Amino acid sequence: MTFTAGFLSRNQVAVTPLAELTTFRLGGPATVVTVDHRDDLVEALDRPHRLLGRGANLLVADAGIGETVVRLGRDFAGLEFLPRIGRTLVRVGAGFDLAALINRCVAAGLAGPEGLAGVPAQVGGALRMNAGTATCWMLDWVARCEIQLPGEGPRWIERAELPARYRHCGLPPGTVFLGAELDLAHGDPERLRQTAARLKKAKAASQPLALASAGCVFKNPRADLPAGKLIDSLGLKGERIGGCAVSPVHANFIVNDQGGTADDVVRLVARIRERAWGERGVELVMEVESWGLGPAASTAAGRSAAMHRSSAEAA
Ligand SMILES: Cc1cc2nc3c(=O)[nH]c(=O)nc-3n(C[C@H](O)[C@H](O)[C@H](O)COP(=O)(O)OP(=O)(O)OC[C@H]3O[C@@H](n4cnc5c(N)ncnc54)[C@H](O)[C@@H]3O)c2cc1C
Repeated sequence: MTFTAGFLSRNQVAVTPLAELTTFRLGGPATVVTVDHRDDLVEALDRPHRLLGRGANLLVADAGIGETVVRLGRDFAGLEFLPRIGRTLVRVGAGFDLAALINRCVAAGLAGPEGLAGVPAQVGGALRMNAGTATCWMLDWVARCEIQLPGEGPRWIERAELPARYRHCGLPPGTVFLGAELDLAHGDPERLRQTAARLKKAKAASQPLALASAGCVFKNPRADLPAGKLIDSLGLKGERIGGCAVSPVHANFIVNDQGGTADDVVRLVARIRERAWGERGVELVMEVESWGLGPAASTAAGRSAAMHRSSAEAA
């Protein structure tokens, strides 16, 4: 299916290696569409597609993907401060960079988002993932979101209507976040700046930020059982397949440090899951989303493969 001439003249369309657009630096080619004009979003979404933000939580197949990859461009990258009595409403587009949003809020003395300092994301990806740190989640600061569900037009949805949970906004697959309004109290800019700097420093001390990765690979199985601690206790730090390895710095990070492939990551993920299930009876669920990798990288397949293996070994 091709795009109309008008669409092509107003927006950017190019076949691009997704390795160039993801923090893992992995993934083959796809047709990438950057929608600059709001009126053209319908045409962009009217075909099998996937939304791409900053690409910080993705593992993309080496062969690339057949679906169109949609990025939100100019008309979705606005930022407005709307003062209210004692508070400020911040209206931000889903294509806006989260780090830039945090910087602008800190400089304006608006408290809250600085708790997400160091999380690489676009606002849309952070809303979809309900990105979070030890201190807060993205949706903590949101008053309402502008969304588009498949087959519907854009509409605003109140925060209270979002069944959000740990690392998920709670809305169905296919929901597109177009923007959000954050309801923020005022704070001292210098203190907010110090908090953001402290959080970024803590991340730099405990995570392999200089290397390509997609952050934490697995969700924490329980609040009192961080996935990194579990993987570390299995002796898997430094475990390597091809050009990718379990980070010796943080065991829940897989790093692409030697020109690895998505297949290397898939095999490492399977190895970690098998060990976690076989030796601790813990099912590790992926936090990183995979594109184009089929059931090999899905949670269910990982569990059944591990269970099958452990019962076969026990027999
Ligand atoms: C070094 C490093 C550190 C990290 N630390 C943290 C951390 O502390 N906490 C944390 O929560 N995460 C962390 N992450 C993971 C990542 O930053 C978050 O998951 C983030 O929310 C991803 O946002 P993104 O814009 O990159 O989304 P992408 O990776 O581009 O996409 C992720 C998902 O969101 C969807 N999506 C993107 N944009 C939209 C949109 N506009 N509408 C609907 N769906 C959309 C995609 O289709 C996909 O399903 C880290 C990652 C790295 C590389």
